[in-house]
Amino acid sequence: MDSSVRLVTKLRNIVVNNLLLILIIVGVVCGFIIGLPLNSHVQSSRYDFEERKKIVILVGFVGEIFVRLLKLLIIPLIITSIVLAVASLDTATTGKLGRRTVIYYLGTTFIAAIIGVILVLSIRPGDTAVQHEKSQPRHVNAMDSILDLIRNLFPDNLVETTFRTSETTYKDHVNSLYNTTIPVRDIRGSPGNLSKFLENNLYDPWSVNETSTSVRIIKKNSKKVWAKIEKTDRMNVLGMITCSIAFGIALSNLGPEGRPVKELLDVCLKIVMMLINAVMWTSPFGICSLIAGKLVDMEDIGKTFESLAYLIVTTITGIAIQALIVYPAIYFIFIRKNPFRYLFNMQAAAYTAFGTSSSAATLPVTLKCVKELNKVDTRVAHFVLPIGATVNMDGTALYEAVACIYIAQLNGYSFGIGKVLITVLTSAAASIGAAAIPSAGLVTLIMVLEAAGLPTTDVGLLYSIDWFLDRFRTACNVTGDAVGCAVIEKFSHADFLDNSANVAYTNPSATEAIL
Ligand code: ASP
Repeated sequence: MDSSVRLVTKLRNIVVNNLLLILIIVGVVCGFIIGLPLNSHVQSSRYDFEERKKIVILVGFVGEIFVRLLKLLIIPLIITSIVLAVASLDTATTGKLGRRTVIYYLGTTFIAAIIGVILVLSIRPGDTAVQHEKSQPRHVNAMDSILDLIRNLFPDNLVETTFRTSETTYKDHVNSLYNTTIPVRDIRGSPGNLSKFLENNLYDPWSVNETSTSVRIIKKNSKKVWAKIEKTDRMNVLGMITCSIAFGIALSNLGPEGRPVKELLDVCLKIVMMLINAVMWTSPFGICSLIAGKLVDMEDIGKTFESLAYLIVTTITGIAIQALIVYPAIYFIFIRKNPFRYLFNMQAAAYTAFGTSSSAATLPVTLKCVKELNKVDTRVAHFVLPIGATVNMDGTALYEAVACIYIAQLNGYSFGIGKVLITVLTSAAASIGAAAIPSAGLVTLIMVLEAAGLPTTDVGLLYSIDWFLDRFRTACNVTGDAVGCAVIEKFSHADFLDNSANVAYTNPSATEAIL
C-alpha cells in the first residue's frame, strides 16, 4: 500500500515537473492523428481547390498564431540578450567567446556535411529513384551568398535590420524592342553603327533587316538575367547581432556610467522571458495545428514518400547520427557528463523546431531550455545561441550534401574526390548562408548544385518532401546550437572567473555587491 502511494506520488511529480513537455509531445502526436485522416477526406474530390485551401488555413490557424508570437519575441530577445551578455564581459572575453563560437560551429558543420557524404555514397539513394517533373529554380551562387552574408553583417540602417535583409537577386530583363523599326538616325548616325548599338543595349538574339532609312529588328529571345542587390522582407538577424555586439562592447567600456542602461535592459529581458514562458504554454496547440495543417495540405502523401523514400531514409539516418551519436560524443568528450540528460532537457526546443521549421522562431524556446533546464551560464547562452540560430545549421549542411550527391546519382554523374570536396565545402557554406526560416536550405542547395556542375532544375524534385525533411534538419540545427553552447561555456569558464562583472545581470544581489 505504502509503495503504491509512493509510486503514485512519484508519477505525479514526474507529470507535474514535465507537464509542458508531455503536452508538447501529445501535441505532436495529435497533429499526425488529426492531419492524416483529414488529409484523405479533404483531398478527396468532394472539395474544390479553394475549399481545400480554406480548410488548410483553418486547421493551421492556431499554429500560424503561435509562430507569429514566437517571431514577435525574437527582436527584443536578441537585442537585450546579446547587449547584456557582451556588456557584462570585457572586450577580450567577448573576442574569445566569439572566436570559440565560430570555430566550434564550423567544426560541427563540416562533420555533418561529411556524414552526409559518407551516407549518400554508401546508401546510393539516387540509383533507385524515379525521375520527376522539374521546375525552374532561381539563381544562387556561392560568391553571392558569401557577399550577402558579409553585407548583412554590416547593415546600413538599424531599424531596417528588424524587417529587411539584403539579397542578390537575378531579374529577367525583358527587352522592350520587339519587332520594331528604328530610324537609322536614332542609331547614332549610320547603319554602320548598328552592331555597336546592339552591343551597348545588350539586345539578345536578333533578326535584323537594314534599309537605308530604317532598321527592322525582330527579337526572338528577349531575356537577359541581371544581378541586383535588393532588400527582401525578412529580418536581418546577422545585422542585428553585429549592432548588439557593438552596442554591448561600448556599454561595457562605459563603466559605471552605463549602469542605468544595463538595468533597463535587464528588466526588459526579464519581461521578454516571462512572455516566452506564457507563449510556451500555447505551444502544444500550436505545434499540433502546424503539423496537422501541413499534412492536410499534402496532395498525395503516400506517393510523395514512396518515390523519395531512400532519400528520406538517408537524410534522417544522417540527422539521427549527428544528433544521437556525434553531439553526445562531443558533449561527453568535452564536458564529461551524461549527454542524454542534456539532450532530454532540449526536447521542447526540438519539438518546437519540428513544428515551426525555423531555428529563428525556435530561439526563445532554445534559450529557455538551455538556461533554465540545462543551467548553462546566461551570458554564454545569450551570446552563443542567437549566433548559432543564424549561422549554425548542421542538419542543413548534412542535407545539402546528401541532396547534391543524390541528384548526381540520379543523373548518372560519377563523383570523384574533387567533386566530393567541393560538395562538403559548399554544403557547409550554403548552410551558413541559409536563413533560419522554413525551406531556406532548399534555396541555398542551388548554389551547391551549381558549384558541383549539376543541373539546378533538379531541386524541383525535392520540393514535395522538403517540408518534411526541413523539420528534422531544423530540430538537428537547434540541438547543435544548444550542445555548442554547453561546450563553449566549458571552455570559457576560466575567462569568466577573471571577469569582475561576471554576474552583473544573472544575479542581482551580486550586481549590487560589485557596483
Ligand atoms: N529551416 C531550417 C532552419 O530554420 C533551415 C533549412 O534547412 O531550411 O534552421
